[in-house]
Amino acid sequence: MAHSVDELKARACAAIDERRDTIVGLAREVLATPETGFREERTSQIVARVFGELGLATRAGLAITGVRADVRGGGGDGPTVAVMGELDALGVPDNPHADAQTGAAHACGHNAQIGSMVGAGLGLIASGVLQELAGSVVLFAVPAEEYVEIEYRMDLRRQGKIEFLGGKAELVKVGALDDVDLAMMVHATSRPEEGRVGLRSSNNGMVAKFVRFLGRAAHAGGAPDQGINALNAASLALTAIHHQRETFRDEDHIRVHPILTRGGETVNIVPREATMESFVRGATLDGILDANRKVDRALRGAALAIGAGLEITTLPGYLPLRQEPRLLDLDGHNAARLVAPADIVAVRGGRGGSTDVGDITQIMPALHPYAGGARGQGHGSDYEIIDYETASIVPAKSMAMTIVDLLADGASGARSILAEHRPALTRDAYLKLLRDLGTEQTFDQA
Ligand SMILES: [Zn+2]
Repeated sequence: MAHSVDELKARACAAIDERRDTIVGLAREVLATPETGFREERTSQIVARVFGELGLATRAGLAITGVRADVRGGGGDGPTVAVMGELDALGVPDNPHADAQTGAAHACGHNAQIGSMVGAGLGLIASGVLQELAGSVVLFAVPAEEYVEIEYRMDLRRQGKIEFLGGKAELVKVGALDDVDLAMMVHATSRPEEGRVGLRSSNNGMVAKFVRFLGRAAHAGGAPDQGINALNAASLALTAIHHQRETFRDEDHIRVHPILTRGGETVNIVPREATMESFVRGATLDGILDANRKVDRALRGAALAIGAGLEITTLPGYLPLRQEPRLLDLDGHNAARLVAPADIVAVRGGRGGSTDVGDITQIMPALHPYAGGARGQGHGSDYEIIDYETASIVPAKSMAMTIVDLLADGASGARSILAEHRPALTRDAYLKLLRDLGTEQTFDQA
């Protein structure tokens, strides 16, 4: 006899509670193994080991470090739902959990996601609930969400190891998500105003820039008139970019935040080369492209003023987040069974940051709520998860319950969402858009 949806949910949640120490232990093990994107070799092995312990067949090495395990429901054919957890850390050497050698630290809480992703799977598998669901669940540890170390990744691209600098775009390109119909992931947050469960929000999209100013070296004291100071061009460019800000419309949520990554070799040489990286973020693609044109104009104007050469590499970044409302409704109802109403923030509005789950939400129905449990500044020295119940266990349960809603009764819930959902982009159109966003411009010394 078929069991009711409520009973299936209760069994999945009980199985997660019974394995709480395993799930939190995994999140802590990943915390102690921080690695930045496309370098998550050890983290990837940890996840593969855990999948192996669950008896799951594993595919590793997807977009370099991604690991995926597929589990089929026992209730017949149906759609495939992916539960994701991100593998990567950030370079924050003064974070208390930083790796002493590399400076990498889980300063965005992705380690908690590995816990919630595996936890959701455990809840469905160990309880036997999956036997009563149709379709399939994919547990997917995904690489390189943080768009960092741009020069390193451009080098990987030159070597042909990746095409895109973000993990999920690369997974789409290699076809690792071709058979996935719906996706979900829960990200940690340290912002008290987002509650223990933060549902509706948007995230900015962005393009990334790598910029080289090319000057001419000369003796900095003896003959600076013979040089072309690339650092001065970069400095002027920063100012010119900042002077664009009054033209950015509030509703576009534009954020441009360049950094100087190289500004000269030794102090007695006129800098021959200065390099910058920047993101140009915004709530819509049009807004991003408008701001990006202004940034290019500022870079060119600065190079021209100093007489420096200029190379501008614009890289496709991430698309704005566009969550599926019906998935949010399901998740909201499930979260209400786990935390007090006052701990749920239904609508958060626009977030200034970006995530490549945004890309996923453009091509399939997807869910990306936030979970509390962290404190400190996101990406900062003081960031840490202090409450794994909220950061890993509650999301594991809410995702397991949402999967029950989707895949119970012959997967009627998932089928109904898929019948009505209109993706913003097909996968081919998405890849073409990313490729069209990438440009290289070169300007000679004047
Ligand atoms: Zn993050």
